[in-house]
Amino acid sequence: MALSAEQLDRHKRHILLKEIGGPGVQKLQGASVSLIGAGALGGPCAMYLAAAGVGAIEIWDDDAVDRSNLQRQVQFADAEIGYPKAETLTQRLRAQNPDLEIRFVHQRFDDRAAPRGSILIDATDNFETRFELNRLAHQSGRLLVSGAASRWSGQVSVYASGVQADAPCYQCFVPELPPEAEACDDVGVVGALTGIVGTHMALEVIKLLTGAGKPLIGRLLMIDGLTSETRILKLRPNPDCSVCGE
Ligand SMILES: [Zn+2]
Repeated sequence: MALSAEQLDRHKRHILLKEIGGPGVQKLQGASVSLIGAGALGGPCAMYLAAAGVGAIEIWDDDAVDRSNLQRQVQFADAEIGYPKAETLTQRLRAQNPDLEIRFVHQRFDDRAAPRGSILIDATDNFETRFELNRLAHQSGRLLVSGAASRWSGQVSVYASGVQADAPCYQCFVPELPPEAEACDDVGVVGALTGIVGTHMALEVIKLLTGAGKPLIGRLLMIDGLTSETRILKLRPNPDCSVCGE
């Protein structure tokens, strides 16, 4: 699919990068991703993917915009309080880039869900859904880009156990529901940090789709918002993992 004059203009700054270029922009156009969660991580992630011209984006969320979301979910306006998040974000993305095929599913993601995207993006805030998504990604041979943020710390990684033999899955890293699991509702989170994590998730998706650089497969990026320090933790496959172990 050749790029139109308008698309060449729109994506010029990506075309100028040797790691992306015209072929990379075409790969983005031909790609489909499923984003689970249209909140604090999903919003910035989706906005950068739409701006980059990712051709088909599917958004899953069953929640509605609440006033307490607006401190971090910058994709929503005050006038949108009470509206469904998945649909509202879809409208925002369509307005940003009318070239794209964007669909929303106003439904909780569970074991009956059948996302269409070739990359699954975990922008959820609960372990049950993370486990479901990880199992699905592994069983269906898809990449899983995952992010999390709580208080002042954030994490991003790419799980590829269904795609390459030596790669760990999410449950190699988090085998079971942590006893100290805490939701943002209970502990708070810095809004700007969720923007960094969501944006970094978009960066990983763009790298995976274009083949640029080195994605965070088998590596966990940890961001400390208070000290501005980042570190990378090596993740290894767990042979006893309930999802990907032998
Ligand atoms: Zn595993």
